[in-house]
Amino acid sequence: MIEENVKKLLKEIPCKNPFGEKVTLVAAVKLQTADSINSAICGGVTDIGDNHVQEFRDKFDLIKGNPRRHIIGHLQTNKIKYLVGKVDLYHSIDRLNLAEELSKRSANAGVTSNVLIQINIGNEETKGGFALEEAEEAYKKISALPALKVEGLMAMLPFDSDEARLRGLAKAMRRKFDELNERGANLKYLSMGMSGDWKLCIEEGSNMIRLGTAIFGARNYKRSV
Ligand SMILES: *Cc1c(COP(=O)(O)O)cnc(C)c1O
Repeated sequence: MIEENVKKLLKEIPCKNPFGEKVTLVAAVKLQTADSINSAICGGVTDIGDNHVQEFRDKFDLIKGNPRRHIIGHLQTNKIKYLVGKVDLYHSIDRLNLAEELSKRSANAGVTSNVLIQINIGNEETKGGFALEEAEEAYKKISALPALKVEGLMAMLPFDSDEARLRGLAKAMRRKFDELNERGANLKYLSMGMSGDWKLCIEEGSNMIRLGTAIFGARNYKRSV
């Protein structure tokens, strides 16, 4: 089932967004077993994204096919030491001290860590991230840190059935992404779009989507993995 879901999605997801950029699918694997994740990889998933450091560590060696690894969920600073050197892209850099700690740990390990700056596009209290108005300053500060490479922006749209509002927010993210690049940033990724809103997000200029439910079905929060 999971393999079929992925194959179907990969046919549905356009190769390129309207800006001509390749769209990357990241499987959001929180609470999934290693077997389920491996099925998704057999179906064609090339990139997987974890939320929880413990799960990332427990399953690390059980995942086949050498996918690219992403961290997509809120990160505690004291967990970074378990990740450095093993993650291809950190999406959820949502505060300066997290960036500073990741930079320090990366420098000590002799690696460069690729990061996205998380923007709280809906100004939601329950979500982390910089306000859209803070994006440029955050970019300047974080890109100045040694051992970090800022590769783009990440956002989670609010759960809202008002499609016009969601499109407006997605457009605002894309505008900020373009604006930073016009001012000399070299951002590649706009990570935006989950199972409920990915089509809209790609239409508005996302080039990286993070899908969980659409691949694995509804998450079972009771099962321990
Ligand atoms: C869980 C999660 C997703 C995937 O959500 P679905 O609605 O299941 O597709 C994407 N991004 C983040 C940060 C997540 O935590």
